Amino acid sequence: MVHVVGGGFAGVECAWGLARRGIACRLWEMRPVQMTPAHQTGLFSELVCSNSFKSRLPDSPAGRLKTEMTALGSLVIPTGEAHSVPGGAALAVDRDRYAQAVTEAIEAEPLIEVCRQVFTPDDAEAALAAGDQVVLATGPLTSEPLAKWLAQQTGQEHLYFYDAVSPTVEAAGLDRSIIFAQSRYDKGEGDDYLNCPFNKEEYERFIDALLAADRVPLKDFEEPKYFEGCKPIEEIASKGRDSLRFGNFKPVGLRDPRTERRPWAVVQLRPENREKTLYSLVAFQTRMKWGVQQEVLRMIPGLAEAEFVRLGVIHRNTYVEAPKALTSWLEVRSRPGLFVAGQLTGVEGYVESAAMGIYVAVQLARLAAGLEPSMPPRHCAYGSLISHLQDDTEREFAPMNINWGLFPDPPENPKAKSERRALKLAAADEAFQHWLTALG
Ligand SMILES: Cc1cc2nc3c(=O)[nH]c(=O)nc-3n(C[C@H](O)[C@H](O)[C@H](O)COP(=O)(O)OP(=O)(O)OC[C@H]3O[C@@H](n4cnc5c(N)ncnc54)[C@H](O)[C@@H]3O)c2cc1C
Repeated sequence: MVHVVGGGFAGVECAWGLARRGIACRLWEMRPVQMTPAHQTGLFSELVCSNSFKSRLPDSPAGRLKTEMTALGSLVIPTGEAHSVPGGAALAVDRDRYAQAVTEAIEAEPLIEVCRQVFTPDDAEAALAAGDQVVLATGPLTSEPLAKWLAQQTGQEHLYFYDAVSPTVEAAGLDRSIIFAQSRYDKGEGDDYLNCPFNKEEYERFIDALLAADRVPLKDFEEPKYFEGCKPIEEIASKGRDSLRFGNFKPVGLRDPRTERRPWAVVQLRPENREKTLYSLVAFQTRMKWGVQQEVLRMIPGLAEAEFVRLGVIHRNTYVEAPKALTSWLEVRSRPGLFVAGQLTGVEGYVESAAMGIYVAVQLARLAAGLEPSMPPRHCAYGSLISHLQDDTEREFAPMNINWGLFPDPPENPKAKSERRALKLAAADEAFQHWLTALG
């Protein structure tokens, strides 16, 4: 028996994917018996905030992922299409009709037994002891006892309860005539870090804009005490204009090759992946609202033309440190039989979470048939997400949406963005078709 825990985006896709492949499962959902702080109904796959599944254009990263999910038998994407509302290039859905339709489809599926109960650590231990498989798809607001239990299974230090995502940029848009590669005191590889050097005037202008920027207010369930370890830079700056220059942006051990001097302050960039197509801003936690955040970020020397694939957020979340805790088929390394799907794996967003639900169903179906798990090729959207979850580059592992930077650069790597992206898409399509054929 497979126990799929959580009837959100990943849980419904996993249960549906198993049923489509002839495997019976029990789908546990605690709502409406026990609600999360964000959900409002007992419906499956409820959207807790925006009603957008992001771009439906096939030549965008989110559109590409939807194409691959649909080919693997998604429930969420075609149901979203069937209940879409006008949203331009985005797939926007009527949230009630959509969730109602998903709920009806799941409840009508004979191979899915719906169990409206809180799944507890005792339930998990009993299921695993009986030789059952357990897929935890309980999302960013996983009930507390289960989250604590998962922390024990993965090793406490490999489960995060808060998400302090630093902004992340595509390497291709960085101005290398300003930004220079150097590790502090030349320790480590020369290009481990990139440095955006401020002079005094640039720093002062940046601090003015940072202090003036609107901030996202905390939600009721996001108590400030959790944020002590990752104080937003705007709060640090409000304690004194030089505090960032002597703290998060300190320039010590660095020399700007243009001036041969130490910069006034520095924002450092660290690679987010092995291929160095993405860089995140180091120690740059922020709650600035997204519109103004882009404007402020572009004031950092060298980032005026940068493409931000992710902006900074600090919010309540639950996710494992996937590169350390999970196999590439999303089984907990230290607890055979226990799988993780959805946002808990370290992806972010409705669609990405749903994608990981289908993925686990595909792998469980293979295991049930006595086959080895099958990894998606690196170049397709699935391969790009799994690569993010498996990349053990030294970094602060943080949840990620699907984006261009996750797709590997083509060997010819043309300068023009449109050409580069067209080549990435062509490679993704070819790789995915191979995988699909191999899966059978
Ligand atoms: C406040 C907030 C706003 C967000 N806004 C957006 C947005 O605008 N756009 C976007 O793309 N993403 C947004 N997200 C992220 C999005 O919600 C997630 O990416 C997505 O829902 C994750 O899917 P999931 O299946 O992993 O988890 P969920 O969809 O959250 O599903 C998890 C399910 O598990 C259930 N559950 C939890 N614990 C237990 C238990 N012990 N037993 C049984 N059931 C349990 C929950 O009730 C829930 O139904 C937001 C998240 C939050 C918290």
